[in-house]
Amino acid sequence: MKLKHLVSALLFSLLISCSSEEQSNSNEISLENASQEAVIEKSEDQNSAFDSFKNAFIESYWQVNPNSALYAGFYAYDDQLELPTKENKQRYLEFVNATLKSLNNFDIAKLDKNNAGDFYIIKNTLQASEWYITEFRPSEWDPSSYNVAYGFGLILNTDYKSLDERLTTISKKLTNVPAYYLAAVENITTPTIEHTELAIQQNNGALGVFTKDIPEALGKSTLSDEEKEIVNTKSALAAQAISKYVTWLEAKKEKISDGGAKNFRIGEALYEKKFKFDIVSDFSAKQLFNKAIESKDELHKQMIKITRGLWPKYFAEQAFPENELLAVKQLIDHLSVKHIDREGFVDEVKRQIPILEAYIKQADLLDLDSSRPLVVRETPLYQRGFAGASVNAPGPYDATANTYYNVTPLDDYSPEQAESYLREYNHWMLQILNIHEALPGHYVQLVHSNKSPSMIKSLFGNGAMIEGWAVYSEKMMLESGYGNQEPELWLMYSKWNLRVVVNTILDYSIQVLGMTKEDGLDLLMNQAFQEKTEAEGKWRRATLSQVQLTSYFNGFAEIYDFRESVKKAKGSEFNLKEFHNEFLSYGSAPVPIIKKLMEQSNEPKL
Ligand code: ZN
Ligand code: ZN
Repeated sequence: MKLKHLVSALLFSLLISCSSEEQSNSNEISLENASQEAVIEKSEDQNSAFDSFKNAFIESYWQVNPNSALYAGFYAYDDQLELPTKENKQRYLEFVNATLKSLNNFDIAKLDKNNAGDFYIIKNTLQASEWYITEFRPSEWDPSSYNVAYGFGLILNTDYKSLDERLTTISKKLTNVPAYYLAAVENITTPTIEHTELAIQQNNGALGVFTKDIPEALGKSTLSDEEKEIVNTKSALAAQAISKYVTWLEAKKEKISDGGAKNFRIGEALYEKKFKFDIVSDFSAKQLFNKAIESKDELHKQMIKITRGLWPKYFAEQAFPENELLAVKQLIDHLSVKHIDREGFVDEVKRQIPILEAYIKQADLLDLDSSRPLVVRETPLYQRGFAGASVNAPGPYDATANTYYNVTPLDDYSPEQAESYLREYNHWMLQILNIHEALPGHYVQLVHSNKSPSMIKSLFGNGAMIEGWAVYSEKMMLESGYGNQEPELWLMYSKWNLRVVVNTILDYSIQVLGMTKEDGLDLLMNQAFQEKTEAEGKWRRATLSQVQLTSYFNGFAEIYDFRESVKKAKGSEFNLKEFHNEFLSYGSAPVPIIKKLMEQSNEPKL
């Protein structure tokens, strides 16, 4: 389950804007101001100077990334479609370098902890985007990075101004679509087959926005016939440009299919670099991979031990199978039958939240804030699309204070689908899901994070820290005694945890070690107890993306190891609640940065 956050959308946004000279000038001006301010106030008050710098940075960042601004709910540049041209890329690199230069005027030792965290995050974000543009260069080999539908769909479906106004915005934005796809074709040199196929599929899917959704919305608007005619014409031209792009890709695919395509596996050197920028870890990718292998073996051992212990209770008449992992699978399947019925699913989640809350208080694990309650609700219809649960955090430009825990009722499922889903989220797994999503996982982390409000951290928060905390909180709860050390709960937890461990092994093995599909499916199905559909989906995802699948395990391992080392160093002085409260007080900064800042703040003051 993924927390809705913007990290990846922003980090991966390499397409540059500035369709007019006017805008690029104003970028330069605001950056210059920021850097001057920084120099002038340097000796006086680093923190207030840094605040001004941050504001100027965000403002310029939206100007050069209008698409990211739109996704973040900042609508000032909603009518612009950034063109992926070489000139715009160059201009973006200049923006990055100018900002890095201003950033380096600050003395990090003089910044408070909130600003120090933001300093590192901005630096990493800028260095990462520079690396993406100059070295990783997906714009040359990933044709699926070109797709305009999402931005248009977002404007069409978000009620941030009247429909007429949104259609007028769309009309302006449509102008650049043909030029956008021409620039795309210009950029693509040697694509991979896999990303070419994905691009064909997704851009075909995009057509509906221009042939159906926009014309339909025009029908409901009160624009004049003349205005409607203009939008319709532009929309048809956009659809034509997309169709041409798809045709070009099909020909390209034909040409490269017998040799000449780029391998989708990025190899060790690029993988290590991408890991460094996307994850921000004290481990190297290779170290994390080795750690995941160890964890998998350790989890298998524990699961076999638990299964041996429980075997007589559930299978008294049956000898313990020779293949120990098959025995584990048999027990998991047997236990999974214990689940809530489909009608009661959402109510059961609602029932569990106060129980988790009471447990956390009683066990004194960390601070909760009753003034910012979690609202459990059925997932709104417009957000459904896949089943499951997710936390809907208020965005940085979103005035709503409520945090929602969206749970999708199983209404649309066939009896077979519902049964399969309910077995997956059985009596024990559902508790772990609620720990992960809500308490003390994503929701609690967010409440703490909002106590030191930082626009930088809400926009560029570290995904490995956010997911790592949620995964860490599962084990921490069970260790502290939640569920009374019930072996069945530990067995289900181990299967759940095995998923994040195996994601790391799979990603590294595919991208660096050349793992075959057959071996990949064996890993997921026979060593991690996954169903075939889930395993096939995971394989496909790991061929199309790199590194992201390791973020959960990395964050978990870093937080867990850090806690253990602080515990050891402090001995009887160690207090778990204090540790958690301090750890969470740094917002969604990368774990290595939180570690550094916590170590500094714990140094004895003379
Ligand atoms: Zn999560
Ligand atoms: Zn059942």
